[in-house]
Amino acid sequence: MSAVTAAARFHADDLADFVAASPSSFHAAAEVARRLVDAGFVALAEDESWPAQPGGRHLVVRDGAVLAWVVPTTATATTPVRVFGAHSDSPAFKLKPRPTTGRLGWLQAGVEIYGGPLLNSWLDRELRLAGRLVLDDGTAVLAATDALLRLPQLAIHLDREANDHLALDKQTQTQPVWGLGSPESADLLAELAHDAGVDAARIRGYDIVTADAARGAVFGAGDVFFASGRLDDLASVHAGVAALERAAAGFDAGHIAMLAVFDHEEVGSATRSGAAGPFLADVIERVQRGLGADRDERMRALAASWCVSSDVGHSVHPNYAHKHDPVVQPVLGSGPILKINANQRYATDGVGAAAWNGWCEAAGVRSQEFVSNNGVPCGSTIGPITATRLGIRTVDVGIPILSMHSARELAGVSDLHDLSLVAEELFRR
Ligand SMILES: [Zn+2]
Repeated sequence: MSAVTAAARFHADDLADFVAASPSSFHAAAEVARRLVDAGFVALAEDESWPAQPGGRHLVVRDGAVLAWVVPTTATATTPVRVFGAHSDSPAFKLKPRPTTGRLGWLQAGVEIYGGPLLNSWLDRELRLAGRLVLDDGTAVLAATDALLRLPQLAIHLDREANDHLALDKQTQTQPVWGLGSPESADLLAELAHDAGVDAARIRGYDIVTADAARGAVFGAGDVFFASGRLDDLASVHAGVAALERAAAGFDAGHIAMLAVFDHEEVGSATRSGAAGPFLADVIERVQRGLGADRDERMRALAASWCVSSDVGHSVHPNYAHKHDPVVQPVLGSGPILKINANQRYATDGVGAAAWNGWCEAAGVRSQEFVSNNGVPCGSTIGPITATRLGIRTVDVGIPILSMHSARELAGVSDLHDLSLVAEELFRR
C-alpha cells in the first residue's frame, strides 16, 4: 500500500479549495488572479499601456482566460518564454435564454449541454449555478449559488431495464429541477442576482453553467485518491498557479515564465478567450515590445521558447483494460503523463519528450507515457493549437485520471503535486 507525502496531501486539500472557488471558467480566472495578486503580481488591463517589463510580475484576465508571467531583471529583447498552458472550462450544462421553466408543480432550468459530459454522472447530484451576469451598464459581475439544482433519476420501479440501457434524451431528460411552484411566478436569474448582490432587473446578458456542489475529497487506502468535479482541467490550472507562485520568489531564470489558462477547450477553443484565439500571441508580443524587441528579435525569442500544455489524460481502468494500449498503461499515483499521438492530436515529438523527461528528472518526479489503443480515437487539447498558432516547441502532458468528463472525476493525490513540481522546474531552470 502506497501512501502520500504531507506536501502532496496539502496540495490536494488546496486544490479542493481552488475548485470550490472556481465553479465556472470566469471564477477560475478570477481565483487565479486573486491568488497571484496576493503573491505580489500586478493585474494589467488590456486597454491600457503596460509598464516596463524587466523584473515584473504581471497578469491579465480576459473573460474566462488568464495569463500571468514573471520577467527576470536581466531580460533582453531575445529572452525566450516558457509557457505552462491549461484550460479553465469543463463539461457542464449551460443556461439557455429564458431559463426559468417547469411543469406539473416543478420549477426547472432550461439548459444546453456544454462540451461532452458523461450525462449519467450528473444525475442525482446537488448542483450549483455559476458564471457571470452582465448588467445594464455593461459591467460583468461574478455570480454563484450554493446547491440549487438536481437532475433526478427515474426510479428503477418505473424503468425495470434502466440498468441495461440507461440513455438520456439530451433535451427532455436533462432539464434539472430547482424548486416547487409555477414558472410564471419564479425567476431563476434572481437566484444568481441575489448571490451577486445586484438587482435582477438590471441583467441584460449572462453566461452561466452548472457545477457539482460537492467538495473535492481525499480517500482510499493510504489516502491515494482525490475525487472532485472539474479536475479536467482545474488540476492543471492549480498546479500551474502553485508552481508560478513558488518560482516567482527570487526569480532569476534566463527566460520569461508564463502561465496560460484558456477558456472553451471543451468546445474547440475557437473563441477570443480560447487557445485558438490571439490572446497568448498578443500578450507575448506586448511583453516582448516592453523589452524593446523588434520583429527579428521576437522571432529569435520564440524560436528558443517552450510551451508545456497540461490537461488530464486516461489512467488505465482495471475494468476496461482492453480500451487501453496493451503495453503503455499509466496508472494513478505513478506520476504525470507525457501524451503521445502519431497523428499529432498531441503536440509531443521526440524533442519535446526529451525536454519533458529532463524537467521531470530535475524535479525528482517519475513520469509515465500515454498513447491510445489503435482502435480507440484519441482526444486532443490546447497543445497542437498553441504550437500551430505560435510555432513554438510544444509538449502535451497532464495527469492520469479516471471518469474523465464525469461530474466528479478521480485523480491520484501524488500526481497532482508532482505535476506542480515539474511545472516549477519548467519555470525556474
Ligand atoms: Zn481537458
